[in-house]
Amino acid sequence: MSKYIFVTGGVVSSVGKGITVASIGTLLKSRQIAVSVQKLDPYLNVDPGTMSPYQHGEVFVTQDGAETDLDLGNYERFIDVNLTAESSVTSGQIYSAVIAKERRGDFLGGTIQVVPHVTTEMKERFHLLAEKSKAEVVIIEVGGTVGDIEGQPFLEAIRQMRNDVGRDNILFVHVTLLPYLNSTQEVKTKPTQHSVNELRRIGIQPDIIVCRSDYPISEGIRDKISLFCDVEQKAVIPLPTVSTIYEVPLVLEEEGLGQIIVDKLKLKPRQPDLKQWQELVNLIKTPREPVNIALVGKYVELRDAYFSVREALQHAVLYHERDIELSWIPSETLENDGDYSVLRSAQGIIIPGGFGVRGIEGMVKAATYARENEIPYLGLCLGMQVMVIEFARHVLGSDEPNSTEFDASTRYPVIDLLPGQKDKKTKGGTMRLGNYPCQLVPGSHAAQAYGQNLVYERHRHRYEFNNQYREQLEKAGMVYSGLSPDEQLVEVCELANHPWMVSCQFHPEFGSRPGRPHPLFRDFIGAAKNVLREGAQPPLPLSSQS
Ligand code: GLN
Repeated sequence: MSKYIFVTGGVVSSVGKGITVASIGTLLKSRQIAVSVQKLDPYLNVDPGTMSPYQHGEVFVTQDGAETDLDLGNYERFIDVNLTAESSVTSGQIYSAVIAKERRGDFLGGTIQVVPHVTTEMKERFHLLAEKSKAEVVIIEVGGTVGDIEGQPFLEAIRQMRNDVGRDNILFVHVTLLPYLNSTQEVKTKPTQHSVNELRRIGIQPDIIVCRSDYPISEGIRDKISLFCDVEQKAVIPLPTVSTIYEVPLVLEEEGLGQIIVDKLKLKPRQPDLKQWQELVNLIKTPREPVNIALVGKYVELRDAYFSVREALQHAVLYHERDIELSWIPSETLENDGDYSVLRSAQGIIIPGGFGVRGIEGMVKAATYARENEIPYLGLCLGMQVMVIEFARHVLGSDEPNSTEFDASTRYPVIDLLPGQKDKKTKGGTMRLGNYPCQLVPGSHAAQAYGQNLVYERHRHRYEFNNQYREQLEKAGMVYSGLSPDEQLVEVCELANHPWMVSCQFHPEFGSRPGRPHPLFRDFIGAAKNVLREGAQPPLPLSSQS
């Protein structure tokens, strides 16, 4: 039977609960303990797929096509697992399921209530992941902050779990923030005490408290939290802010968290192997020459909207022993007589995914700039559609080619809906989602990057390359380097007369891992790193003997 670790958050949101959960996974995996992870999101949306990135940040897509919270991306990257739809549970899903059962007559005669019907449905989801993943330990993150109205049913469900699975098989970890007061120059524990009180009111006593802080946490502070919150002193774990998220597992291990979990859950003690993780952090901290990449997108004000893209770029530059200098360019600023100066220092341009017409013309301009100036370009999903629109405009000598998403009546719909998509009336979960096979064309940049002929990649889009334009664009130099096995869908395209302009209809960023960068990101950086741009110093000759 699986054991469970439930992680709650206190005081404020965004303190790094997701990274802590992912790091706990790393510590267990480094001891050869099989883990799986689940995120509970208290909102009533069935999934975040219909939410604006401004509300929610990136939507992370699992291989089996679930649209999930971006924390799942961190779990995948830190634990190096591929999660499934069972790892993402929202209140919306729970209530829809309970109400569907009620309508079917499953509870005939009964009054349907939060306790027990909603909480039972929640617990079934916990058990389902445990059974399906066969993990020794299932780590479950409760989204939101303790005290939120929406989160209460989840807290009630996890409280009940303690009796269901037995006290030796469950652990409660509370992640809180210790704010710093400038006037007295000290970190304060009171908000943590209050949030633990709130947990206790529901009937949950945390076993471990992870204390986030921007300032050092003294032994005295640990003693105080231990006393007031009734947690062993060694189980009060300080987690100061670190320069890279990949350092968090090392900090937590250093503070003894791995051993405490093993002891408390009575797991088989094993030496952790965090060597690769240490090497990764050493590499990140070593000063390296930066590669200057411009990310031209619609939601750049909120960097979480491109979380996996940023991580994939980071993995790729590390491979080349370089650093990343990322310029975030709101695509609208390139429109009309927009300011191009920002692109002049870019060694590579990346256009990530997105929806809706706002900012599209600016992205097209960035693609023109990349094509004409031979700047390496990587287009991701929308970024591929933009590359096709741009190239079609160039080839047809018209500014009309477009996607029907942005101009429904365009004369040249180079990107369009497939017939199957046209009939769909609802929005939620109706895109092409999750893994699809893609056959690569030997000799292309894409095939060279992957080093294999058949790959599976994750999709999340409605619109596709319109095959009516295939021949015409091909004659002008577009190469369809990745196709669906039936050759009906263009999955990767690139330009023949360009050093490296490659785009894909899928989202490679979701598959990138620290220490194992995605091949397209790796080769994009490989092409960009040697491009000399404005303001750059040419490298000095290595030998002075001549
Ligand atoms: N809006 C485009 C589509 O639906 C691209 C989606 C994306 O970039 N994820 O096809």
